[in-house]
Amino acid sequence: SPLPTDLDAFWMPFTANRQFKAKPRLMAAAKGVHYTTVDGREVLDGTAGLWCVNAGHGREKIAAAVHAQVSQLDFAPTFQMGHPGPFSLADRLAKMLPGDLNHVFFTNSGSESVDTALKIALAYHRVRGEGSRTRLIGRERGYHGVGFGGISVGGIAPNRKFFGSMIPGVDHLPHTHNLEHNAFTRGQPEWGAHLADELERIVTLHDASTIAAVIVEPMAGSTGVLIPPKGYLERLRAICDKHGILLIFDEVITGFGRLGSSFATEHFGVLPDLVAVAKGITNGTIPMGAVFARQGIHDAFMHGPENGIELFHGYTYSGHPVACAAAEATLDIYEEEGLFDRARSLSSYWEKAVHSLQGLPHVIDIRNLGLVAGVELAASEQPGARGYECLVTCFEQGLLVRTTGDIIALSPPLIFETHHIDQLIEQLTSVLKALP
Ligand code: PMP
Repeated sequence: SPLPTDLDAFWMPFTANRQFKAKPRLMAAAKGVHYTTVDGREVLDGTAGLWCVNAGHGREKIAAAVHAQVSQLDFAPTFQMGHPGPFSLADRLAKMLPGDLNHVFFTNSGSESVDTALKIALAYHRVRGEGSRTRLIGRERGYHGVGFGGISVGGIAPNRKFFGSMIPGVDHLPHTHNLEHNAFTRGQPEWGAHLADELERIVTLHDASTIAAVIVEPMAGSTGVLIPPKGYLERLRAICDKHGILLIFDEVITGFGRLGSSFATEHFGVLPDLVAVAKGITNGTIPMGAVFARQGIHDAFMHGPENGIELFHGYTYSGHPVACAAAEATLDIYEEEGLFDRARSLSSYWEKAVHSLQGLPHVIDIRNLGLVAGVELAASEQPGARGYECLVTCFEQGLLVRTTGDIIALSPPLIFETHHIDQLIEQLTSVLKALP
């Protein structure tokens, strides 16, 4: 249907800063590492869509798989029956994860994956006769989507303000002791691992017997590329083990190659009990998410009915045939083109390139890991205004970046060539130099 003249008339973006009336910025097409806007301009994709298009845009293999699947079997109910898709996809995914993270539950988004992981954690304790373990622990500046669970354990104040209080008994680990010593952003100092000890404080306060799970992003993405201090995740794991608390990694951003390994759990060498993923699982083409659970968790969950506990959880579209087909084709591309290794081998070029922005006006911190970088700008009088100005100017000059407040987040498709990195840095440099 044709584009309405008043873009704000009918579509409701919910979030106020997404009104399009003042200046529509609309994409019409995408191929490889570029978007084309409705007014015909080419834009370099510095954010892999929204951290999801890891294999680049317009992949014919995925398009063909989706087309073939819709023709052959468009949908099948998965409650009392099924179809082969999720069985073979789960098998393949389980082999990509370390340890016994070998059971897979399918969802349709990152938010659903997070809420599912939290529910599995609560159910796990319940079926084992530890129903008093209901408390959930997130981290300040964590982002876990927009479901009731996700906003509750998430650490973004505006998201929590209205709805986050709907889930009782949620605590948050600190992100830093103070801004001068920001362990998550400045050079990963060893002392930063002590931040994990705050978990012991929460355990002392509430008693371990009330705590179900801790959820963290191994590397927080959308709140500004926050890289954990060395030893932080190991320490969290050890404290969780000591007290029988489950550890959940939200790998919605870090999964599928972003850090140069299949998943962050591999990169950091820390095995969580549950992993939530989405985005890159289908290269951003068809909505899909998944939760990976360790053997013991799966067993407890599945034996609920024997212990008199009936559980119900599942979505109409869990393991949707078309999403499974898109995911299989996506995994084929990741494998055939060795894209996770590619991300790893590009990461030193990337590191050098992003750190060349040091010294430019307003830049106060630069951090990077795998094919991700955060470039933090000094806030002007109105926090976030400078970041927004940067995003808009970049877009007008043909570069898509993502900003969170005054932090620019960069996460290009893993098929980026070094000349794309050069171009991105060149464009960003000229924007930063001209930024008021
Ligand atoms: N967790 C993390 C770490 C995310 O970055 C996101 C989305 N940016 C989500 C969860 C929510 O995913 P979705 O928007 O697909 O619901």
